Amino acid sequence: MRRRLVAGNWKMNGSMASAAMVDEIAALSRDCDVLICPPFTLIAGLSGRGIPLGGQDCHTEAQGAHTGDISAEMLRDAGAVAVIVGHSERRTDHGETDALVAAKALAAWRAGLLAIVCIGETEAERDAGRTLEVIGTQLAGSVPDGATPARLVVAYEPVWAIGTGRTPTSDQIVEVHGFIRRTLAERFGKDAAEGIRLLYGGSVKPGNAAEIFALADVDGALVGGASLAAADFAPIIAAAG
Ligand code: PEP
Repeated sequence: MRRRLVAGNWKMNGSMASAAMVDEIAALSRDCDVLICPPFTLIAGLSGRGIPLGGQDCHTEAQGAHTGDISAEMLRDAGAVAVIVGHSERRTDHGETDALVAAKALAAWRAGLLAIVCIGETEAERDAGRTLEVIGTQLAGSVPDGATPARLVVAYEPVWAIGTGRTPTSDQIVEVHGFIRRTLAERFGKDAAEGIRLLYGGSVKPGNAAEIFALADVDGALVGGASLAAADFAPIIAAAG
């Protein structure tokens, strides 16, 4: 039985004043895992408040001459337990490839972090009927060998649904999540694939969370905008259990 995970991606938002919101979320009674991924600068300051924290990216190496970068080991040192890798904004803004994302996932594992690997098609790719082909390629290239349920979460985030208020139909989500599960089973075996959590991400809100969580092979959500305020994030967590 997979335990649901609701992960908040704050992107480049938040400050130490957000500690009040973290405290509100920590006070909720819940039956699912919750993770908040704030900017790097807030991880140490927000740790120890009862909500596990994650980074939004990491470098592939542990240390060295990489100005402005943060390693997985540094995230761990600051109190993080997880890191998002391959978010579409990293792929677009920083030209990150599948191979780089896989290297970052390996770095996360090296540091003892859970890697949340993001994949998702663009609108043009969906319109061209290429969604499963794109997802298959990203999955093969972005997830390293050695994936286990304790080390890997896959987030399906259609690029056209991120921050747009648009979501795929339930059938579209079920189709992609089922495909991801089957593809993971072919590569890592049925037992591992059955344990790896698959999150849906893209315009998850209090109003659509319950419907999305009820779908087959959806084990939670990666939430952007709606994770910034407790008034939005709390009902999403409640919908997860
Ligand atoms: C995200 O950035 O991972 C995301 C899903 O954003 P939003 O929920 O705002 O669409």
